[in-house]
Amino acid sequence: MAEFVCCEKRNWALERDLGHAHSFDFILGKCASCGSYSMNVFCTANGISGFESVSPQDLSQIHTLPSGQELKGFLKNWSYINL
Ligand SMILES: [Zn+2]
Repeated sequence: MAEFVCCEKRNWALERDLGHAHSFDFILGKCASCGSYSMNVFCTANGISGFESVSPQDLSQIHTLPSGQELKGFLKNWSYINL
């Protein structure tokens, strides 16, 4: 997992707690400085956390998928690809 990749960490603002999937906790947030989105990911197994940028395509999925199994399934796939 990456360190914070955007402007400054203190500019990152939580937008939506996406919950837990595939041994990770996912929190979507947005940089208040440049407006780009990144995911704060916390691994519940080893306590490692980091930030990953979120593509526009993934972002629109996150915003349209209902909470629950669909979102969990998406996050699981996202973690395989991005983490
Ligand atoms: Zn930024």
